[in-house]
Order: sequence, then C-alpha cells, then structure tokens
Amino acid sequence: MTAGRIGADLRTALAGSKRIVVKVGSQVLCQRDGSLDDAVFAELCRQLGVLRAEGREVVLVSSGAVASGTGAVAQWHLSRPGSPSAGVVLGKQALAAVGQPLLMASYRDILAGNGLQVAQILLTHADLGNRGRFLHARRVMGELLDAGILPIVNENDTVAVEEIKFGDNDALAAQVAHVVGADALVLLTEVDGLYTADPHTDPLAKFVPVADIHDEAALRAAGAGTSQFGTGGMRSKVLAARKAGEVGVITAIGSGKTPGVLTAILSGETVGTVFQPARRKLTGRRSWIATSVRPRGTLYLDDGAAQALRTGGRSLLPIGVVNVEGKFAVGDPVLVCDAVGQPIGRGLSRYDSEDARRAAGRRTDQIASELGWLPAAELIHRDDFVRDV
Ligand code: GLU
Repeated sequence: MTAGRIGADLRTALAGSKRIVVKVGSQVLCQRDGSLDDAVFAELCRQLGVLRAEGREVVLVSSGAVASGTGAVAQWHLSRPGSPSAGVVLGKQALAAVGQPLLMASYRDILAGNGLQVAQILLTHADLGNRGRFLHARRVMGELLDAGILPIVNENDTVAVEEIKFGDNDALAAQVAHVVGADALVLLTEVDGLYTADPHTDPLAKFVPVADIHDEAALRAAGAGTSQFGTGGMRSKVLAARKAGEVGVITAIGSGKTPGVLTAILSGETVGTVFQPARRKLTGRRSWIATSVRPRGTLYLDDGAAQALRTGGRSLLPIGVVNVEGKFAVGDPVLVCDAVGQPIGRGLSRYDSEDARRAAGRRTDQIASELGWLPAAELIHRDDFVRDV
C-alpha cells in the first residue's frame, strides 16, 4: 500500500475515533514567564467542548504544572518583595506542587464555559506498573468518562523520583491511552508535526505527514530535543507514538498553537503527522505487559528457544535459557532477548531470579532435583508473554 493510501486510511480511522487521549505540553500552554497563554488555553478548551458535544470521550494529559508554579512564585514575590520565601530557589517538584492546583483551577473555570466538568488524576509509573492499581485507574477513568466528566492527568511530580517516573508526559499519555483503551492519541506540541530534520535550523527539512511506528528514520529525524519547562521534545513524541502503536492505538502529532488543530485532526483532515500502529490489537493482561511494566531482569535464550518465541504462541521453558540477569521475584516482568542481546519480547516470570539462574539450561526433572521442587514447568507461560513488534 502507498504512503498516501495508508495516510488516508489512518485519517479516516481518526475521524471515526470515539475514545481519545489528548496530550498538551507546557510549551504550548505557557508563555516564557510560565503564565498560561490565555488565547491558546481558551482555544484548547473550546475544542474539547466540541469533541464532547460530538459524543467523543476524551482524556486530557496536561503538562504545565512546573511552568505555572514558576510563574506564580515569581509573581507572588514581585507583589510581596519582603515575603519569607523570596530568594529561596524551589525545585521542579515543589514548583509543580504550587502550579498543579492553579492549572486545574484554570481548566475548571474555562472548561465549565464549554460545558465540561473536570477531574484531576495524578499518576506515577509505579502506579500503572502495578496490575491492581492499573485496574483501579482504568475503572475510575471509565466511570468519569461514562459520566461525561473530563479526566485531566498529570504525573504526580511530588513523588515521582527517577525510578518511578514516566520520564515525560508524552510517555505518560501513551500509557494513559492504553489504560482507557483509546482509539487515538493526539500529541499537541509547538511544531506542526514531524520533519525529516529540525525545521528551525535546517531549511531543507521536509514535513512527514505519515510515519510508521517502526520507522527508525522518524526517530532519528526527531533528534534529542528537549524543551524549556517540559521534558519531552520530538523524540519523546515519536517514542510515545511507538508505545501507543504497539497495542494498536493511532497517534497524531499537531501544533497546539494553531487554532482548530485538534478538531481538524479528529475530523480526518490532512493536518499534522499520523503514525501507523502495529496491526495487532492487544487487550487485557498482555497489553498491560507490553506497555506498562518495567522489566526487572533479562533472560537470554539459546537459538532454539529464541526461534520458538519469535514464531509465537509458545511458552518459555528453563532449558532454553542461557543466562539470567537482574534480581526479580515470581510474577515480575522480565525482558527476553536472544543470545546476542537482541530483544524478543517481555513477560512475567514464574521463577524468581535465583531459581531461574539455577534452572537455566536444565530439563524439568533436573530442575526438580536441583531445587528440591519445581516452581513451574514454564519459566514464562505463553499467556504472560508479549513479543516485540
Ligand atoms: N509534569 C510536568 C508538568 O506538569 C511536565 C512534564 C513534561 O512535560 O514532560 O509541568
């Protein structure tokens, strides 16, 4: 199929999408001093109202807490020069704590004028990596959507230390798309989509209307850029499109500064960049394994086992494992690689790392005599394994 045809099909699918996650970045919402850009904010809220009136279910992932906090603290000191906190430098987590309620208050006020009630949801990666909490988040967001309330999600910056962080709100949005079973993810940024090079510095940069999630060139073109208040840049958007696409969600990237972009993208107009997702549509526990868990260890397989898992539908037996890295417990997620470290997929281990090391390369009867018992016949059962696409 030609890129044009694929693009047209994706646009049609976007026009028909019912459940949508929209992510908006700080660079779009806020001005350089950290205050909200009123015109952009009002236009975003107007479009969210239009989507709701069309009967679509939207979850908004909004950055802007750190930026709003930065602006508010500066303002406070300007108007009260002798205040005790003047001159104290606040970290990003503290600024987010100041800014998050202000951001939500603005959403509440402006969206009320567009007929929408809002709810706040703050998450960390550790929340969604835990199956129980993941299911609670899914249930609550579903309840809110059923009631016509707009959930507004941000990372819980106060407690989000490195190891439990999503990393950036693009990654968070991809996971939220998966939590709510979205059909589409729209990332609103300050450029109008993906280019073959940085359009600010390279006059030969060409716009890319359609990309494939597997396209390494797209990732290279996205560079490593980060932004003033946010943590993302284009690279994190391409990675988010990939993550969402792995479970079948279509991602579009468009300029949040351009009026009407969100509703145009979701009407199927040729605006922004769309990413073709993988053809598979994972659901349930396997899609959670694919998107929400962070591996705690790695299993390296011999050629036979690697081949069996790549072909699909097979469980991993301990005899096929040549090496075990990391420290993990029974039920923890692990990465599965071939002998030279090429990733094959990820799954939940039925052995802890200690037992897995002792069982590696052995037949079931040998494991029972080595360990004194048999933790499980499979190291990873096929129901708990998801291949990379
Ligand atoms: N959670 C941060 C905020 O609301 C932004 C993180 C990001 O944009 O990636 O300010």
